[in-house]
Amino acid sequence: MLTIGNYVKVKTLEEAYELNQARNSRIMGGMMWMRLGNARVKTIIDMSELGLNEIEETDHVFRIGAMCTLRQLEEHEGLRKFYGDGIAESLRHIVGVQFRNQATVGGSIYGRYGFSDVLTALLALDTFVELYNGGTVRLSEFVNRKADKDILVSVIVRKSKRKFRYESIRQTKTDFPVLTCSVVTGIYRGQESWFFSVGARPMKAALLEKQWEIPKDATDEQLTEYAKRVAAEFTYGSNMRGSAEYRQHLAEVLLRREMRSILDEYNAEEK
Ligand SMILES: Cc1cc2nc3c(=O)[nH]c(=O)nc-3n(C[C@H](O)[C@H](O)[C@H](O)COP(=O)(O)OP(=O)(O)OC[C@H]3O[C@@H](n4cnc5c(N)ncnc54)[C@H](O)[C@@H]3O)c2cc1C
Repeated sequence: MLTIGNYVKVKTLEEAYELNQARNSRIMGGMMWMRLGNARVKTIIDMSELGLNEIEETDHVFRIGAMCTLRQLEEHEGLRKFYGDGIAESLRHIVGVQFRNQATVGGSIYGRYGFSDVLTALLALDTFVELYNGGTVRLSEFVNRKADKDILVSVIVRKSKRKFRYESIRQTKTDFPVLTCSVVTGIYRGQESWFFSVGARPMKAALLEKQWEIPKDATDEQLTEYAKRVAAEFTYGSNMRGSAEYRQHLAEVLLRREMRSILDEYNAEEK
C-alpha cells in the first residue's frame, strides 16, 4: 500500500527540487505506477501548476514538458508530421486511452522501466532530457544513470530529417510488451546513419548506431542479414513472457520489417 504524509502543490521548480531532497519525498507524475507500489511517502510533490503540461514546437526542437500525458504525445500533430505514425504506434498499446490521459512523459522517462515503449521510441530519436539540477543530457546517457533526487523538467527531441518506425510484440493486447523495437534513419554528422533501439529485452531499451549505407534496393535476404547482425549486438534475458532466444528472434523479425518499411518509403519518394 502507498501511504502519503503531506501533499504539496509547488509554485516553482526550485521549491519542488528542495522538497524532493528529503529521502521520503517523491515527485508525482500521473501516479499510475507509483500508486501500485508499497511505500511510505513523507511528502508528495505535485508539479501540475508549473506549466510543464505542454509540447512546445520551435524551428529546431519539440520540447515536451514532464507533466504532458502520453495521450498528448500520441495525438500531437507536429510529431506526427515529422515522424509519421511511429510515435502514436509506440503509445497506443499502453493499457487504454484513460490510462494514457493520466500517465506522464516525465514519470515514464524518469522511471527508465525495462518494459517501456516510450523509452524505446524516444531513445532512437535525437532526444535529450532537461534535468533541474543536472542540466541537459542525452537520453542515451540518462538511461544508464542511477535514479537520484533530480527532477526531470522536459524531454527535448531535436528536429532532424529522419525516418522513424516503431513495433512491439505483446502476447495479449494491452499487456506489457515481450519486445519493443525502433528503427530510425537519417543523415547524422554528415553520414547516413541507422539508429536501432530495442527494449523489453526484458532489460531497458538500449541504442545502437550504425553508419551504414544500405542499398535502397536491398533484397529481403540482405535485410535479414543486417537485422541479424543488429539483433546479435543486444543482450536478452528470459522471464515469464519469453526466453532470451525468442526475444532475439523477435528482434531480428521486427528490425527487418522496420528497415524494409523505411526503404520502401525512400523508394516511393524517388518515383
Ligand atoms: C498497469 C500498467 C501497465 C503499463 N504498461 C505499460 C506498457 O505496456 N508500456 C509502457 O511503455 N509503459 C507502461 N506502463 C508505464 C506507464 O506508461 C508510465 O510510464 C508509468 O505509469 C509512469 O508514469 P506516471 O506518470 O504514472 O508516473 P508516476 O507513477 O507518478 O511516477 C513514477 C516515478 O517517477 C518519478 N517521477 C515522476 N515524474 C517525475 C519527474 N518529472 N521528475 C522526477 N521524477 C519523476 C516518481 O517520483 C516515481 O518514482 C504501465 C504502467 C502500469 C501501471
